[in-house]
Amino acid sequence: MRNYGIAIHGGAGTVSKVKMTKWKAEAYKQALKRAYTVGYLTLHKGGSALDAVTEAVIILENSYLFNAGKGSVFTHTGKHEMDAAVMEGKKLKAGAVAGVQSVKNPVLLAKAIMKKSKHVLLSGEQALTFAKKHQLEIEDDAYFYDEFRYKQWQRAIASDTVQLDHDEGGSTDQDKKFGTVGAVALDKKGNLAAATSTGGMVNKKFGRIGDSPIIGSGTYANNESCAISCTGHGEFFLRAVVAHEVSARMLYKGETLQEATQFIIHEALPKMGGRGGLIGIDAAGNIVLPFNTKGMYRGFKSSDNREFVDIFK
Ligand code: ASP
Repeated sequence: MRNYGIAIHGGAGTVSKVKMTKWKAEAYKQALKRAYTVGYLTLHKGGSALDAVTEAVIILENSYLFNAGKGSVFTHTGKHEMDAAVMEGKKLKAGAVAGVQSVKNPVLLAKAIMKKSKHVLLSGEQALTFAKKHQLEIEDDAYFYDEFRYKQWQRAIASDTVQLDHDEGGSTDQDKKFGTVGAVALDKKGNLAAATSTGGMVNKKFGRIGDSPIIGSGTYANNESCAISCTGHGEFFLRAVVAHEVSARMLYKGETLQEATQFIIHEALPKMGGRGGLIGIDAAGNIVLPFNTKGMYRGFKSSDNREFVDIFK
């Protein structure tokens, strides 16, 4: 029987071990576990990799713990502007949304854009109009409100910083982490898929968009090579075109998934000053979860009876 499996992430960064209480770590791990289990069951029942990654990401979007969907960070003007993408590796179909407000599950909007529009990437208010037209769930501001996020935003405004994500109390680079969520999967038919969803940066201005909804940067899938979902300082992931670069190194250089991601996360990105990580799965079901930060919320489950969830190195 062919291997199948799913890997997920809930963001990377300088997760402080001291501030991570046992209870908090457990809450994160439970959420991660629930997400990959839901995705895995879909794969187990013969469902598609695309459905598995979407379902796993929905679980994380619906949790206030992660910077996506419900837990999205505040922009400079006090809004929640979300980015998401999905891609499937068989026909290289993709859908993505940037800077959309009020949509409960941006990953479902990305999927609807892929399936029901002629486009790949929609943005802003018009993307919301598309979501309403296709009966996606819409939530008011109260749904996205979280006291921790609000205080985090107030601190960012006071210090006039645009933070690369969720700051757990420090005002410098310490304690920053990236709470974007993502999933990659291989199904029983050998199809790969990837999905990524994020609220972006705390206090972001001017309609800033990161790597997550950009096909080839934060999200990519190709049955010939791999499926990738990234998390980290988006500007660097955009410039390094990370997700497609992994696939290209595998296809053109003959590298393994492990070799290609090792090079990008531990050599190419650090050289540019880029921090973060990614999750990847190849056509044989090999899974990698590399990161160059102190931690990355991550987990996977595969048909060879392997299961893993962790935060730190
Ligand atoms: N990559 C995301 C962005 O730059 C942030 C993250 O991964 O948390 O928007």
